[in-house]
Amino acid sequence: QAVERRVRMEQDLRGAWERGELSLVYQPVYSLADGQLRGAEALLRWQHPEHGAISPSVFIDVAEQSGLIETIGPQVLRTACEDVVKWQQAHPGAEKMFVSVNVSPRQLRSGDLPRVVADTLRDTGLEATRLHLELTETAVIGDEIHASGLLARLRASGVKIWLDDFGTGFSGLSHLRRVPVDGVKIDRSFVADVLRDPDDLALTTAIIAMAHSLGITVVAEGVEKEGQYAILRERGCDLAQGYWLGHPVKPEDFSQLLA
Ligand code: C2E
Ligand code: MG
Ligand code: MG
Repeated sequence: QAVERRVRMEQDLRGAWERGELSLVYQPVYSLADGQLRGAEALLRWQHPEHGAISPSVFIDVAEQSGLIETIGPQVLRTACEDVVKWQQAHPGAEKMFVSVNVSPRQLRSGDLPRVVADTLRDTGLEATRLHLELTETAVIGDEIHASGLLARLRASGVKIWLDDFGTGFSGLSHLRRVPVDGVKIDRSFVADVLRDPDDLALTTAIIAMAHSLGITVVAEGVEKEGQYAILRERGCDLAQGYWLGHPVKPEDFSQLLA
């Protein structure tokens, strides 16, 4: 049954973008030092005509396994860049805001990511430094040589690379030596327990210190409580996002945050 469900989901996902079932929501990312809005993470949503909203953790996996992500990914990238350019132009003070786009392991492996990114930046007019690409550790593990080459090319063009869900893979620390990144996003499982579990607080504090000593920006995700925000700020974390700060919202609502 599970296999059948997956196959059906894959069929349904094919052409979903063209049918307007896929859309992006944006979660605000704030600076902890001054509380200012700095950018947004683009998150994909799928409104299935019969089954309603499907969780990204389910359909992204199907898109990844089936290869559909290779067509959906570039569409996400383009739409996110277009939206942010619109906001930058419409809101004085938002010129420097960034947009962060999730990139799946398969998109990285396919090898043409630097070209897709360059074309998108050229067509949309977004400044390269305003685009952040989020990769998970699993995307770079296994083929670090290939990944570092690609990431180096992207970074040379000005694009920033962030490592998503940081701390969940055991090899986290050693990767930072070999794979060039601009930022790490501390996984929300650590953030969830910083107030309760001294070990998680110690790890989070250590990640911040280590990243800073390497010149890497630290983002905390999943901030759901004021206390988490306060302690991350006290420990010198640079940026944060989470339900306490703002849920992912439709583009038109995000635009309101900038007004
Ligand atoms: P992620 O990149 O780590 O994104 C953060 C997830 O945490 C999002 O889930 C977001 O809605 C959720 N979140 C934000 N703040 C909080 C909070 O305070 N508490 C809790 N519990 N959760 C919070 P979402 O949107 O369901 O996305 C899940 C994952 O799906 C993402 O994890 C990302 O890996 C993947 N994904 C989403 N959009 C895309 C996409 O366009 N391309 C690719 N390749 N993957 C995507
Ligand atoms: Mg992400
Ligand atoms: Mg994450």
